Amino acid sequence: MSVKKLHVKKGDRVQVLTGKDRGKTGRVLRAFPRKNRVLVEGINLIKKHARPTQKIPQGGIREMEATINASNVMVICPSCQQPTRLFRRTLDSGKKVRGCKKCGEYIDK
Ligand SMILES: [Zn+2]
Repeated sequence: MSVKKLHVKKGDRVQVLTGKDRGKTGRVLRAFPRKNRVLVEGINLIKKHARPTQKIPQGGIREMEATINASNVMVICPSCQQPTRLFRRTLDSGKKVRGCKKCGEYIDK
């Protein structure tokens, strides 16, 4: 079974469409195409109990991101700054790029 490519990639700015973080935006830290999930900076924060370390001797609770379903985010176009659906195109050079359906600009350079 082949893994379907996600519409989002590491480094994309995305907007969350559903859940407690609905409407928030963040940068994709990691994509997990096999699981159809993404890790987004500042989104879906969970509290994690950390053991005391040399750096943080008191240990304590640390917040970190948990993955969310990739279908719950929309890419924000760097050109028109709007959350948008994407199209895919293969350039003459053979390079595959994603483009913004709202303004038509390519997102991948
Ligand atoms: Zn656009």
